[in-house]
Parts: sequence; C-alpha cells; structure tokens
Amino acid sequence: MKKLNVIKTAGIVLAACLFATSGVVNAAEVTNYEVKAGDNLQSIAIKNGLSISQLMELNGSIVNPDLIYTGDSIKISGNKSAKKVNKSNKMGAKANASTTGYAHPLNMPGAPVSSEFGYRQDPTGMSGTQHDGIDLAVASGTPVYAVKSGTVVEAGFHYSAGNYVIIKHQNGQYTYYFHLSSINTYTGQQVGQLTHIGNVGTTGYSTGSHLHFGISSALWSGFENPRNYVAF
Ligand SMILES: [Zn+2]
Repeated sequence: MKKLNVIKTAGIVLAACLFATSGVVNAAEVTNYEVKAGDNLQSIAIKNGLSISQLMELNGSIVNPDLIYTGDSIKISGNKSAKKVNKSNKMGAKANASTTGYAHPLNMPGAPVSSEFGYRQDPTGMSGTQHDGIDLAVASGTPVYAVKSGTVVEAGFHYSAGNYVIIKHQNGQYTYYFHLSSINTYTGQQVGQLTHIGNVGTTGYSTGSHLHFGISSALWSGFENPRNYVAF
C-alpha cells in the first residue's frame, strides 16, 4: 500500500514563487531517488541541492506536485556542481556565523527565499510595500531556531505577524520570526544559538507557509537587510 505524502503548505502563491527560480539541469547526470515517508518535493529538492522547478523539469510525469508517494522513484540530478554549490553555501554560513555571529534561522542554508528585504508589492494587500525581512518558503512544521543567543522579549500572537517571536541579542540587535504554526519559547527565556523556538507556519497575514525573518537595531524599528548578517 502506497502512503500518500502531501505538501501541507503550498498555497498557489508559494508555489508560484518557488517555480520562479528555474534553472537548467543537465539531463546526462540524472539519477533516481526513492521517495521516503515524510518526503515532499520541497524536502527532496533541498536534500539534493535542486530547486522544485528543476525537479519538475526532470520529472515530467509528476502531474500534481502536491501528490507523491512513498516508494516512488523520482529523478534527481547527480550534478556535482549543484551539490558543491549547496555545500559551499553551508560552509559560507559557518564562516558567516563565526564572523557575524548569526546562524541561519532554519539551520538550512540554501532554503528557498521567496521574498527579499526591501520594496515589494505586499501579497496580502494589507500592509505597506516595504518588506522588513526576508521570507523563506519551507513546509509548515519546519523547525525555527534562534540565530544567536539572547533573550526572548516578545512571544505571542499579532494580527499581521501571526504567532511570532522576537529575540534581543547582547549586541543590541533584535531578530524577528513571524507566521509560526507553533511557538516553542516564552517571553523572558534566555536562548542559545540554534535553540528551537518554534515551527514554520502561515499564521497572520500570510499567503502560504513560510518564515518571515527580520533583523533590526531597535524594537520594531531600524530594520536592516538580513543578508548583511546571515548567509541564506
Ligand atoms: Zn515577510
């Protein structure tokens, strides 16, 4: 009996964002991957250093990307350079963490970025056009980690941020984690780097499962581009 693996998240907007990052895959280097329990296209893509659109290109037979089955054979690229890039991203993140002190909020360098910091059209149409953080489009339930040690100064629900956590760090900066499906910490808790503080979700004004991650110099103001500190 085949077990159905369903991507819990993937709203149309999320899918559109992911499919936008198309790349070319060398068909000569294609190998097979057997779908395991709990896999979805996104997790398989991340594991193999590919984008979802690359997986779709390789697997013309996947009619509905939300429905794949345990035991299915999925074509993946054996492209060494793709894996090498992914690996060097991870090494870059370590180097970055050691110089700036910030780890990746999903501990998953290379996770798909669906929206950058800066000017954009707000997908919900509800707030301003300045995007105060960076969005990482990953499955609901993906663990979220403190990027650096500090003190949780807010942990609760906000109509726009959804379930959210804010951490104040010793250097005076704040980091923000929005739209969580669940919160795993509390106001006042001292957290270490990579303490598990919650899980990715789509609460508040959100069009699909993702983590909104922000960095600022003051509480709720002075937002900076997270790319200045974290290797994504
Ligand atoms: Zn965002």
